[in-house]
Amino acid sequence: MGNFSYKDIYIEDGKRVLEVNILPEKYCNFDCIFCPIGRSYNKVDKPQSFQEMESSLKGLESMIENNKVDLVFINSKGEALVNDKISNIINLIKSKGLPVRLLSNGYLLGRNEYIKIANMCDEIIGEIKAISEEDFQKIQRPIDGYTLEEYISNMILFNKQYEGKFILEVTIIKGYNDTEKSINKIKNIITELSPDKIIAERMNDERFKKKLGISTERLDEISKVLLNII
Ligand code: SF4
Repeated sequence: MGNFSYKDIYIEDGKRVLEVNILPEKYCNFDCIFCPIGRSYNKVDKPQSFQEMESSLKGLESMIENNKVDLVFINSKGEALVNDKISNIINLIKSKGLPVRLLSNGYLLGRNEYIKIANMCDEIIGEIKAISEEDFQKIQRPIDGYTLEEYISNMILFNKQYEGKFILEVTIIKGYNDTEKSINKIKNIITELSPDKIIAERMNDERFKKKLGISTERLDEISKVLLNII
């Protein structure tokens, strides 16, 4: 029913999590070379209208009602914030008494209309991948005019006023942000951003693992350093 798609319910910290994708196909303001969803043919950062929203909302409602859900995680094919009905989606979930977690790459957390929406959520996940301006442009291929500096400062400013739980996902990429110098840069960003939780990970997708993946030992080493900051 409708355009949304769902993962099988899973348990996290004893809670039943419903993960929902609210985009009919990929819509993102970045076009990362390692994106698991593929190329960004809809490279956008303005609100988009999609068809069948009413039946999609009804579908979500029955998924929640039929699955004894404890948390809804909006994790979409790209940047979920660009769905122009996202407020209705969050309101529907909240009306069922459930908390909402939203994954965003974090760039749009600097725009007033999106700050308002993100503030409705109980948990926001933002991301850090490239750590130099050149790499940001080269491997994350954002919309023209975007800068890494603005990206980071958008998340920092957002979190200064955000009352929910901010989770920062840091992806370590071989050859791009795995040197000591890069890790120090990431440490400084984390200190300023002051997230409630950090998730350090590496490229796990088989297509990119060989070229961009780091070893388990190196990830453990970096994780210890980063997770110790908060
Ligand atoms: S930000 Fe995420 S969804 Fe968007 S292109 Fe990059 S990896 Fe894909």
